[in-house]
Amino acid sequence: MSILSELTELVPGRAHGPGASEYDAGRTVFAGVGDPEAVVRPHTIGEVAVAVRLAAAAGLPIAVRSGGHGLIPVEDGLVIDLAEFNAVEVGDDGLVAVGGGARWRDVAAALAPHALGVSSGDTRDVGVGGLALGGGIGWLVRGQGLAIDRLREAELVTASGDVLTVNAEQHPEVFWALRGGNGNFGVVTRFVFQAAPADGLVGGHVRFDISDVPAVMRAWRDVMRAGPDELNSTLMAMPAFGPEMPAGLQLGVALQGTEQQLRELLEPLLSLASVTEVSLAPVEYGDLLEDAPPGRPPFLFVGGNGFVPELSDEALDAAAAAYAREVPTMIMLRGLGGEFSRIAPDATAIAHRDAEAFLIVNGVLPADSTPEQLAAAKATSDAALAFTSGVYGNFSMERGDEVIAAMYPPATLERLRRVKAQLDPGNVFRQNHNITPATD
Ligand SMILES: Cc1cc2nc3c(=O)[nH]c(=O)nc-3n(C[C@H](O)[C@H](O)[C@H](O)COP(=O)(O)OP(=O)(O)OC[C@H]3O[C@@H](n4cnc5c(N)ncnc54)[C@H](O)[C@@H]3O)c2cc1C
Repeated sequence: MSILSELTELVPGRAHGPGASEYDAGRTVFAGVGDPEAVVRPHTIGEVAVAVRLAAAAGLPIAVRSGGHGLIPVEDGLVIDLAEFNAVEVGDDGLVAVGGGARWRDVAAALAPHALGVSSGDTRDVGVGGLALGGGIGWLVRGQGLAIDRLREAELVTASGDVLTVNAEQHPEVFWALRGGNGNFGVVTRFVFQAAPADGLVGGHVRFDISDVPAVMRAWRDVMRAGPDELNSTLMAMPAFGPEMPAGLQLGVALQGTEQQLRELLEPLLSLASVTEVSLAPVEYGDLLEDAPPGRPPFLFVGGNGFVPELSDEALDAAAAAYAREVPTMIMLRGLGGEFSRIAPDATAIAHRDAEAFLIVNGVLPADSTPEQLAAAKATSDAALAFTSGVYGNFSMERGDEVIAAMYPPATLERLRRVKAQLDPGNVFRQNHNITPATD
């Protein structure tokens, strides 16, 4: 009997196969369209548990779908689509319970009337599930840390179908692993985050031409070093995408403070000759979030990301050199430090806490590039990435042991593998940055 037939019998109305709109919604993710055996869209935790038990008994891999922005299209097994788990409830003391399939836009909208926010990502459409289990770097990272640093509790359906409440007191080792270990340990149906004040924000962007990229990068580094935790920013250097979109740099910035304070803090950047546009104004936290593009752009991105312990002149010059190379290249620098770095490296599974910044270097190549062109783009990206340590899995679509070894220092990985062995020894949750169970 197929998993679709079994599920149709046990959770009527919730299981969907080819031809059903729910099947199409479940198998379509940001990176493309998959071909799983079935999509189940449970409405209750009990239904999640039934689906997990069935797939595990049949030895089928399970892909959990929250916002669909991290999954590689699923070609086999079962997709558990958490679309119905999208409720957001604001409770006392700024605690907010969020369904495992909600989007960050839902969280920002529910918290707005309370002038609260939860550190998340930059994009409204991204799912709470994938982003929060992988870390969560966003607009409040220097003030609140990562999304996982605001997590207080999770409700987890394990591979055996058990439902656990996981927090600092109950199953503390699982709670540790969930914060950065990605979706390896089961289906999180509910997260509880500690929100914090996110009012009094001023933000916007500053654009620069590319006449002196190293000067912009150094001034940005100095501004972020001197700035308070309430100052958050990313500096993006983009290649030209045709005459409509010339190459340029854009600072995206937000401060909990006044516009005058922001202008004072940004003065070393605003006074550069390469500034072409300044747009700064009071803003709601939810309006800082951007819409995601409708799908993965039709390019090959060759490069990678990493945490930068120190933004030395050499590190910034290497980033500027990568941008100046012949291969069209996108660079993103995001300021870290602040609360992000006050969390102990072993407090969560994201261990690279000493970072001053986060860096992405990506060559943007046409889909029909030759292996030689791809290898050349990779080599020049690596020169800039040599100044980083670790990899942030949420921004890496590569899978496999090499990425896992870069994401987690050995002691962290060993600890994650032990939790995995306890909760998912058969590795049914493997459609992710997969942590294989410890075997001894
Ligand atoms: C346009 C875009 C913008 C982004 N911006 C940011 C950003 O600003 N900051 C940042 O940190 N990251 C960002 N990311 C990366 C993002 O965090 C990851 O892609 C993340 O995996 C997306 O989560 P999702 O729920 O949308 O994805 P999904 O594809 O639904 O899930 C991703 C992974 O998590 C697992 N998973 C999801 N939900 C659950 C759950 N409830 N229980 C168990 N496992 C689960 C899935 O099985 C899968 O392995 C961005 C990605 C894109 C495409």
